[in-house]
Amino acid sequence: MRTPPDTSPAGGATDPRHLRDPARVAWQDLAAGRERAPAGGSPGRRICARCGAATGRPTPVGDAVSKNYANFIAADRWKHPASAWLCEACAWAYTDARLRRFPVFVRQDGTCALLARTGADGPIADWEAARDLLAGRPLARQEAITLPLIAARHHLLPKAQWGHVTTGAGSLAWTDKDRARLLAVEKLRAAGITGPGLRSDTVLAPGLKRPTRGEPDEEFWRTQDRWQQYRMWPKPYRDLAVVLTQPPPAGRAMRQVA
Ligand SMILES: [Zn+2]
Repeated sequence: MRTPPDTSPAGGATDPRHLRDPARVAWQDLAAGRERAPAGGSPGRRICARCGAATGRPTPVGDAVSKNYANFIAADRWKHPASAWLCEACAWAYTDARLRRFPVFVRQDGTCALLARTGADGPIADWEAARDLLAGRPLARQEAITLPLIAARHHLLPKAQWGHVTTGAGSLAWTDKDRARLLAVEKLRAAGITGPGLRSDTVLAPGLKRPTRGEPDEEFWRTQDRWQQYRMWPKPYRDLAVVLTQPPPAGRAMRQVA
């Protein structure tokens, strides 16, 4: 556990209310010591439009999110949309490009990890690490994970909720049943169903050779049963399962990307 950075006189960072916000916890761990004073100096104490914390080092909203930020107010449940400022944590959550490319795993104890590995052309998302996490157990109420299934498309950390997996499709609970379904998708992959096959909507599992008369067909029908279970899973879950079960590229895994 890392000691939260002293952000006085900004305040707010040690306020227990903010432990309810995965974005702030992630900021305290991943961005500690990196904060920069806003250009032009501090304009004084302001209220953050997103989280409602008082901050002595505010960033103009327009400097952190696009001009069309009205969309974020509802989608990210901004608490004080009338304010034109963001606190350091919220400004970071919208501006650190890593957060839109790599899965982020946050825990209420203050630890956070960017799941990334070294690829041929630089750091890439470590989907294998995210898979190990979600295949291992249900997500606890003190944990949150964001999965940028489409790189750089969405701001996910500001939407993250404890006990949920957040993708561009929203925040999803992750129960033991979901964990078991993810493992079943791996069995579908092992049976020969590819990523495009998993994205198809056929009644029978695609691409499988039907057993001819006299051949054992137990495994064929077991796969079809798994396919039916998979089809019943809501689409946002199927989408994340396709990405999490994709074969990993060659590369060296690492916990964080600097
Ligand atoms: Zn804030």
